[in-house]
Amino acid sequence: MRRRIVAGNWKMNGSQSLVNELVGPVAQQVRELGIEAVVFPPALYVSAVIQAADNAMAVGVQNVSEKTQGAYTGELSAPMVADVGCRYGLVGHSERRQLFGETDVEVAVKTEQLLSAGLSAIVCVGETLEQREAGQAEAVVANQVRDGLSKVTPEQWGQIVVAYEPVWAIGTGKTATGEDAQAMHKAIRGVLANMGAPAESISLLYGGSVKADNAAALFAEPDIDGGLIGGASLSATDFVSICQALPADTHC
Ligand code: PEP
Repeated sequence: MRRRIVAGNWKMNGSQSLVNELVGPVAQQVRELGIEAVVFPPALYVSAVIQAADNAMAVGVQNVSEKTQGAYTGELSAPMVADVGCRYGLVGHSERRQLFGETDVEVAVKTEQLLSAGLSAIVCVGETLEQREAGQAEAVVANQVRDGLSKVTPEQWGQIVVAYEPVWAIGTGKTATGEDAQAMHKAIRGVLANMGAPAESISLLYGGSVKADNAAALFAEPDIDGGLIGGASLSATDFVSICQALPADTHC
């Protein structure tokens, strides 16, 4: 059975107080629910979040260097991320692509770095509104999947999670309908199968304005295995409600 995952991307939000107030109580509820949850705080807070999560939730970084070590001031390498106890890295978020010019080639190298360090990678893909309106959504996403995952070896597919996040839905309050999101997830699974990946066992998450009141409908779709949550992951109540929306038969 595919793993069901709810992941929270704090982006450049949070503080030591938020770590203290939010992580322990959320971890406790996640443990009781028996689901798999991951938190992506800003890198400065990773160690504090790992401690507060007490193994009930995995922790990851929002970005990683293409390099392994050396004179790259300001960068954080995948081996360092693994060394401090993270289990995940996020790659190719649309904000990194749009605001920092991250290309599919860089996504592929960063993914390779994470996997080589023994970490899991959540690789984000998604089309802009213009691309969707031009009827290019599936082709754009298929290319991002093929190119971003081009360096994954057959033994590493178990470390891959793909997050479909339509750019027009991120932080906008607009969510893809369950039907549209399901159609794209099914298409992504098809691309993965064509790449020789074990597509049926790879978890595919939906992201883009997932809230407590729309999560259950999205998670009920057959190819949507969970969510990547931005804004709502900064509220303990909202994040836990989204975790509770995973179908009950997937809880341990
Ligand atoms: C995200 O940052 O990945 C995201 C999906 O944000 P939001 O849930 O706020 O739309």
